Amino acid sequence: GQCANVCPTASITEVYEYQAVRAAIADPDKVVIVSTSPSVRVALGEEFGMKPGDFVQGKMVALLRALGADYVLDTNFAADLTIMEEAAELLERITKKTAPLPQFTSCCPAWVKFAETYYPELLPNLSTAKSPIGMQGPTIKTYFAQKMGIDPKEIVNVALTPCTAKKFEIRRPEMNAAGKQLGEPAMRDMDHVVTTRELARWAKEEGIDFAKLEESKYDSLMGEASGAGVIFGNTGGVMEAALRTAYYSLTGENAPKEFYRLEPVRGYEGIREASLDIAGTKLNVAVVYGTQNARKMIERLKTGKKDYHFIEVMACPGGCIGGGGQPRNLEVDADQTRKARIAGLYSRDEQMTLRFSHENPEIKKLYEEFYGTPLSRLAEKMLHTSYISRAEDLTKHGNEQETEERNEE
Ligand code: SF4
Repeated sequence: GQCANVCPTASITEVYEYQAVRAAIADPDKVVIVSTSPSVRVALGEEFGMKPGDFVQGKMVALLRALGADYVLDTNFAADLTIMEEAAELLERITKKTAPLPQFTSCCPAWVKFAETYYPELLPNLSTAKSPIGMQGPTIKTYFAQKMGIDPKEIVNVALTPCTAKKFEIRRPEMNAAGKQLGEPAMRDMDHVVTTRELARWAKEEGIDFAKLEESKYDSLMGEASGAGVIFGNTGGVMEAALRTAYYSLTGENAPKEFYRLEPVRGYEGIREASLDIAGTKLNVAVVYGTQNARKMIERLKTGKKDYHFIEVMACPGGCIGGGGQPRNLEVDADQTRKARIAGLYSRDEQMTLRFSHENPEIKKLYEEFYGTPLSRLAEKMLHTSYISRAEDLTKHGNEQETEERNEE
């Protein structure tokens, strides 16, 4: 459990939030929209006797429909959107020196809160891009609502995630970009987070036979994703996805396969590094999971001579596929389970023809019709954020460090 450390409102994680979603489904005045994170579809099957890594996307969508969701959208779509914004930001930092390097990823709320607490001096290095869930929420309540003719106030946005820390992230006060835009500041961008385990529990309570469900597809406008969005759930996946798009921005061409299957950043070690050359632009990158490894990496930055450009940090072992809200089977080796889930997402990426975030037709349409370009004024308002130092939490709760280290074990 990372959550005791990262959720100041630890009680949220104790509550089964799906009960609130159930109530919203029962309310005829509400439109319930569920968006599904990359990692859920390679783990949910484990709750129903399937193997870790089994790819159950179609049944997962069908299950959400059977439970009464009005729309099922894909957070992988927003992962592509995050890549568009984060890759553009990285290139601005490199070419225009708009902010310090290395740029750190910011899609893991446990890592963000860890940096806010222990390394506030690094906050200018965190990408200002919101996480996929952080982008999906306000885009649904503005763009999607407009296109579908739905009153945004009636929308109940639900994120289905592998992650307990997301329950904290969606409740950060600043996560009301759509509401601010629409003059309804009390409206949240994302209303609920339901974990993989919660969804399984809910399905079992309803007596749904998961294995027998007919596969279903996502709704359109925000339901299509590239392979780059798919691999977001794996450690190294965000890095690989972002570099695929950075390569295109720098060269005007898509990366060749030997480049975009970035072997050096794949793998399961807690810290991995690679050096790349994209049309003369040299990039040193690193991929890290676990906050202990993040500490080591930050020490390496402070004491070493190497200049890094981009560093991905995820709090959970193996990335989000190893999230705190994923199924747990104490009889099976946890590392084997995580590796099988990682393989499940990579093999899905391999099977896809659409491999690049910037080629996702729904993403192109979203920019054409709504955001304009990455880092546009509207994109900055809706899709980017800022961070606060929480260093004083350490003096308030002197034992936090100790708690955090215990959670690492
Ligand atoms: Fe959540 Fe873990 Fe993924 Fe971070 S790495 S976003 S804590 S599931």
